[in-house]
Amino acid sequence: MISYTLICDKDHEFAHHFDGYDDCMAQLKAGKVTCPTCGSKTISKGLSAPNVGGKSAQPAAPSCPAAGGCMNGMCGLNR
Ligand SMILES: [Zn+2]
Repeated sequence: MISYTLICDKDHEFAHHFDGYDDCMAQLKAGKVTCPTCGSKTISKGLSAPNVGGKSAQPAAPSCPAAGGCMNGMCGLNR
């Protein structure tokens, strides 16, 4: 079992489980997969793959957890 992200022609994204890549393509080709949101049978495989395009969010810059900064270095950040 493998989960693929699929997208219908109305841009609805949903996940569907298949036995494998071939099963996924066969079911899409046969129109056996329908969008759970709109019922469309025009489904394509999503482009989402893990770790494509790098990290989704840059790590936040370190900042003092105290509002306005503690100003005395107690938090170790000296701000
Ligand atoms: Zn849809």
